[in-house]
Amino acid sequence: MDLSYILNELGEERENYFNAVSPPIIQSSNFTFKTIDDFRLALNDEFEALVYSRGQNPTLNILRKKLAALDGAEDALVFASGIAAISVPILALLQQGGHIVSVENPYSWTLRLFESFLPKFGITTTFVDGRHVENFNKAILPETKLIYLESPNTFSYELQDLGAVAKLAKSKGIITMCDNSYCSPYYQKPISLGIDLVAQSATKYVGGHSDVVAGVLTGSKALITRIFNQEFMNIGASLSPHSAWLLIRGLRTMPLRLQRSFESAKTITSWLGRHPAIDKVIWPFTGDFKQSKLAHQQMQGSGGMFSFTLKDPSLQKTETFCNSLQHILMAVSWGGHESLIIPNIATIAKDEYDVNSERHQLIRMYVGLEEADYLIKDLEQALTAITP
Ligand SMILES: *Cc1c(COP(=O)(O)O)cnc(C)c1O
Repeated sequence: MDLSYILNELGEERENYFNAVSPPIIQSSNFTFKTIDDFRLALNDEFEALVYSRGQNPTLNILRKKLAALDGAEDALVFASGIAAISVPILALLQQGGHIVSVENPYSWTLRLFESFLPKFGITTTFVDGRHVENFNKAILPETKLIYLESPNTFSYELQDLGAVAKLAKSKGIITMCDNSYCSPYYQKPISLGIDLVAQSATKYVGGHSDVVAGVLTGSKALITRIFNQEFMNIGASLSPHSAWLLIRGLRTMPLRLQRSFESAKTITSWLGRHPAIDKVIWPFTGDFKQSKLAHQQMQGSGGMFSFTLKDPSLQKTETFCNSLQHILMAVSWGGHESLIIPNIATIAKDEYDVNSERHQLIRMYVGLEEADYLIKDLEQALTAITP
């Protein structure tokens, strides 16, 4: 299916709403029935019928069709947050006593799900260095039901070989799930590599304007229906029709925004890499990236987020550098129009900072839609502030 068709036409039935180009926001919780027969039929299958907006809603259904097609999946569900799109399917797939093999250092709330939420139900997780497929194989137990991936990592950018892990999991009858927020389906399609379920924080690149919190899950119709019928409906993390409309609007320009973010990230990482105050730049598409070959094999481009370390990574220099930025904002989320910085030290208590730990030293930058030169000027003056 053509990308342009998906983003501009798929799922839209304009003749049903006055030929309006922009779809309506069906801001209704309820849908009515003329006869008991119709009512009964609908209540029997809330996955297919319009009954109540905790389940299906027409504005959300336009969005679902587009998101499924973008991922090359049979179906999609949208949620009120990215973390709901991760937690709900995991609660659906695991039973008491079940086991998960997860890549180490996943997104912070995913980690908390594995470390403190799921153990309440007797579900345990083994974390592995995902750069080597054998590590997944070694961690599999008879009760392993899920292999959880996040490629690349969004702070330190390690990749997993998605095709190889999917193959291993299939041979053992284990379901695979991948958080694809960093690349979005525009730059990486895990389903085409054999992954079963793909989650994405739509707060990031799909929304693209830092004004919606939302999540997407895509996969086979069988898995999506199973997740919908119990956990999706029970947990009820449904997205509002207005937010769904904002995401449809975001999708129209998603390729343009991703191309821009990718191009500017190339310029800025290469400038930073040559700066005397910078020690290391970590981004999947720099020439010296350790998994460069795999990155070019399974990613069609890169998200515009990278990390770097300072030659002098002391707490004081790192803080002075970040506090000196005039235009690049300090904030947690990313994928919007505005460039952002978050030093790892912001997540660590001051007295726990280990100046020799590369992970502690990392400063993460997300490149938004500003001119690259404008951002470089801001970085330059902040680096000057820490140069003796
Ligand atoms: C932001 C993020 C999430 C969580 O998404 P929310 O929309 O904030 O709930 C999950 N995974 C990754 C990689 C993220 O960056």
